Amino acid sequence: MDLSAPIHVAGHQGLVGSAMVRALRDRGAENLILRTHAKLDLTEQAAVREFYRETRPRYVFLAAAKVGGIKANDTYPVEFLRDNLLIQTNILDAALREGCEKVLFLGSSCIYPKHAPQPIPEDALLTGPLEPTNQWYALAKISGLKLGQAMQVQYGLPVVSLMPTNLYGPGDNFDPEGSHVIPGLMRRFHEAKETGADKVVVWGTGSPLREFLHVDDLADASLFLMDNWESDEHVNVGTGEEVSIRQLAELLKDVTGFAGEIVFDDTKPDGTPRKLLDCSSLFGLGWRPSVSLEEGLRSTYEWYLNELGAGNIRG
Ligand code: GDP
Repeated sequence: MDLSAPIHVAGHQGLVGSAMVRALRDRGAENLILRTHAKLDLTEQAAVREFYRETRPRYVFLAAAKVGGIKANDTYPVEFLRDNLLIQTNILDAALREGCEKVLFLGSSCIYPKHAPQPIPEDALLTGPLEPTNQWYALAKISGLKLGQAMQVQYGLPVVSLMPTNLYGPGDNFDPEGSHVIPGLMRRFHEAKETGADKVVVWGTGSPLREFLHVDDLADASLFLMDNWESDEHVNVGTGEEVSIRQLAELLKDVTGFAGEIVFDDTKPDGTPRKLLDCSSLFGLGWRPSVSLEEGLRSTYEWYLNELGAGNIRG
């Protein structure tokens, strides 16, 4: 990648996009093209085309998406399917029209079948039914990676499609209902500690297994793959390590300093039982994550406390 070229980071205020911006700036990129949601609605095709005609980005990091945890996915199926289809189609189409050099597309490990072999290899895609709780988001992301692949095959636009495992880090959404498990529980443990509550409720049985990647590691892998991934196939990005939700809850209890009890609410959904990615394609190229889960949870908690202190996280 030529880091002095104009680079559009779509979704630069989100968890992933903000990490991309940090990583690009750290490496000296100065010509970043960023638009807030209020300035550019990525679901509007005409607006996106016009924006690309004006700014002519040479590289695109497509990190804009409607995202959320297990409950949000289940509650807003239309937004998760429609908005994501619109955003990614509009951007990929505009990038193709304006002769963009390379696009990075971000999917998710939920594109794989619920009962995929574990660890999940890239070729498990479309071999079985999806996990129902996030099928809407998954279907949109499968369409996005296929559209990227089609653009590469038919028109020669390189689209690097990354399928990251569950992500966390600074910039995450800490909304108690809509968030993913790490920010959701981090906030609940913190508030329980502050109010002196004697227990914290964790959704589900505690037995599901998940793999968590710090978003700075994802950004690092993204830049690495923009330079080193030549295939039109998608590529998994993870750590190769998994923890149960129970173990995660214990870690968060320790990180936040909550002294009470953890209670599991098995009336809430567990989601898919296990989700570990086979990252041998990526690791085979020599890339490895650098942030351990404990270290990442501690620094994310510090970030959360700072944001809370600055009044940036609503109660
Ligand atoms: P998923 O990997 O798509 O299922 O994403 P989530 O991060 O939403 O959920 C991961 C697992 O954590 C699921 O088994 C949830 O039931 C469990 N979980 C436990 N407590 C919470 C919570 O407070 N919020 C969320 N989102 N998940 C929780």
